Amino acid sequence: MSTQPVVSAGDVSIARLHGEACWDCGAVSADLVPAGEVAVRGFEKTWPIQRCAAGHPAAAGGES
Ligand SMILES: [Zn+2]
Repeated sequence: MSTQPVVSAGDVSIARLHGEACWDCGAVSADLVPAGEVAVRGFEKTWPIQRCAAGHPAAAGGES
């Protein structure tokens, strides 16, 4: 059972929504793998997203 994150369109870049950039860090040159889908407020469809294939270190602190 997966819970889809729900985001507002203005909260994330279109590149992330299109799976062109890592959902978590925004990298576009990294190897990306499918990371599920997100629902965006105001859209009927869900958007497939991708994340870095190598994953991310469990770093403390928020995104910059
Ligand atoms: Zn990443």
